[in-house]
Amino acid sequence: MKSLAERIDTVYETITDACARAGRDPAEVTLVAVSKRKPSTDILEALAAGVQHFAENRVEEAEIKIPEVMAQVSKPQPIWHMVGHIQSRKAKQVPPLFQVVHSVDRGKIARKLSEEVDPERAPLPIFLEVNIAGEDAKHGFDLQHWQTDERVRTAFWQEVEALCTLPNLDIIGLMTMAPFYENAEDTRPVFASLAALREALRADFALTLPDLSMGMTNDYPIAIEEGATIVRVGRAIFGPRD
Ligand SMILES: *Cc1c(COP(=O)(O)O)cnc(C)c1O
Repeated sequence: MKSLAERIDTVYETITDACARAGRDPAEVTLVAVSKRKPSTDILEALAAGVQHFAENRVEEAEIKIPEVMAQVSKPQPIWHMVGHIQSRKAKQVPPLFQVVHSVDRGKIARKLSEEVDPERAPLPIFLEVNIAGEDAKHGFDLQHWQTDERVRTAFWQEVEALCTLPNLDIIGLMTMAPFYENAEDTRPVFASLAALREALRADFALTLPDLSMGMTNDYPIAIEEGATIVRVGRAIFGPRD
C-alpha cells in the first residue's frame, strides 16, 4: 500500500502528463482533495504533503472536521470547497465554513447563499453545477441536449440572468460530474460540452467564467485535456471510502 504522500505525488504527475498532452501549463490546474468521510488526520497528512485545497460534501461533517483541522494548522491555511448538494435549511452554515461553493445547483440555493454572505466580506466564489448527461441521480441545472434544444438553453439563460443580479456572489465557473463509465474515454463528450457551454455563456453575458470544475478519480486526466482548471479528486488520494 502506497503512502498518502506517494499517492498525492502520483496524482500531481498524472496532472502534469495530462497538461503536457493538451499543451497546457500545469499551473492552470488546481487539485482539490475531496476528503469526505475521511478523518481530519488524513487531511493534515495531505496538507503536510503540499495539498492546499480540500472539499467536503456535507455541512454536518464539515462543521466538525473543518474547525478540527483549522485548530491544528498555521500557515499556509487550507482552502475549503463545498461540493455537495446543499439543503435550503443548511445554507446559512455554508459561507462561514467554505471559501468556494461548487454545488450551486438551483436558483433557490443561490438566493439563500447570497442572503447569508456577510456583505462586508468579499463576494463568495461559486460554480453553477450543471447536469449535462441528464442522469436522474445527479443534481444540477438541467442542460441535457442544450446544444440542440432551444428550450433547455432559454430556461438556463433566464436562470443565469437572474443569478447575475444577486449580490455577494461571484460566479466563477461551471461544475459538472460525468457519469461513471467503464471506459473513462466515454466521459470526454461531457467535459467538452461543459467547456462549450462556458463559451456560449461568455458570448451572451458579462461573465468571464475563468474556471471549469470537472474531473474526479475516474476521469480527471480527460477532464484536464478538455480544459478543467479544477479537478476534484478523492479516492486516488485518500483511498476507497466505506
Ligand atoms: C466524492 C466527490 C468527488 C471525488 O470523487 P472520487 O471518485 O473519490 O475522486 C468529486 N466531486 C464530488 C462532487 C464528489 O461528491
